[in-house]
Amino acid sequence: MASHTVTLIPGDGIGPETTAAMRRVVEASGADIAWEVAEAGAHLMEEHGTPLPASTVEAVKRNKVAIKGPITTPVGTGFRSVNVALRKALDLYVCLRPVLSIPGAGGRYDDVDLVIVRENSEDLYAGVEFEAGSAAARKLIALCEEEGAGTIRPDSGISIKPISTAASERIVRYAFDYAEKHGRARVTAVHKANIMKHTDGLFLRAARDVAAAREGGIAFDERIVDAFCMNMVADPAQFDVVVFPNLYGDIASDLAAGLVGGLGIAPGANIGDEYAVFEAVHGSAPDIAGQNKANPTAQVLSAAMMLDHLGELEAAERIRRAVRAVYAEGACLTGDIRKATGCDQPAASCTEFTDALIAAI
Ligand code: NAD
Repeated sequence: MASHTVTLIPGDGIGPETTAAMRRVVEASGADIAWEVAEAGAHLMEEHGTPLPASTVEAVKRNKVAIKGPITTPVGTGFRSVNVALRKALDLYVCLRPVLSIPGAGGRYDDVDLVIVRENSEDLYAGVEFEAGSAAARKLIALCEEEGAGTIRPDSGISIKPISTAASERIVRYAFDYAEKHGRARVTAVHKANIMKHTDGLFLRAARDVAAAREGGIAFDERIVDAFCMNMVADPAQFDVVVFPNLYGDIASDLAAGLVGGLGIAPGANIGDEYAVFEAVHGSAPDIAGQNKANPTAQVLSAAMMLDHLGELEAAERIRRAVRAVYAEGACLTGDIRKATGCDQPAASCTEFTDALIAAI
């Protein structure tokens, strides 16, 4: 019997390609994993009436650990994000995204080594929304007027931004615990508390309270989100562990990925007290889906994070070493990296790149 059983959700778009590559690499790393495949994605709507069947959530609950490919979310209309639903159903309140320069990946900087800790359960991402013209939107608009909170145009749609003390303290505590466990020196809280006093202001107060109550020598500082973006572009190496409310953390993740070579190499994890779901930062990339062009590095590095979580530390390190070796060698890299490096050598397919990784393990 395998040491660990993991739920594998291939997802849609490039997901089936990147997860198949990831599975081959994990198997080559010597980690003893049994895979239980469970489906989620837009392609299930017709048969199941939902993109996230209850059996898939049950499978993750059973195995406690899952790794997933990206899943398409219709823009503006249609079903709500499967990713958000999964995070909610499993109380995955942490979104953890290490951002590390890989020499040869075409990043603007080769000295970035920071960790994004994004609150994963509330903020504008909570999905509390009211369509323009709906009775509920009209009621809310009237209430704001009544309370003297301001005038809102009657044809407005409304999204609510809930941020609680409990969830803010929980995520900042996680950031400090992570910093301590991984020998990091500083936690930075990012916010827009100068404008959103009752939400970001509350987040910032919670962060300051948690920081003040901590012993152990981890430094704490704070940045306003717009200044943070400028600081990131100018000098990302100054950041260590950075903790965000949900939406800013989402946006900062792509910004950070762009600085070190792009979405193709950015891994991540959604973590709660009971369950963990590992996934790349990128989406389903419909523009290249089904063409064997996707870069599976982000999915593979997400698997390395999963192996760390499972205690398979040697296999995880073997995978990370192989990734660094293939990028340093530079002979077999996918199109996104060829573009980022400005190199006119032919691009490797997803399969060829995966073969090179396996050969380097
Ligand atoms: P995207 O990340 O899918 O793609 C943005 C760009 O990056 C595209 O040009 C794409 O080709 C490229 N890219 C992304 N991953 C790549 C990879 N591994 N290799 C090479 N190139 C890669 O973002 P998008 O186009 O804004 O979103 C597409 C869909 O994915 C949307 O429906 C969105 O909601 C969904 N999405 C899902 C997740 C998730 O499942 N966790 C995350 C983000 C977006």
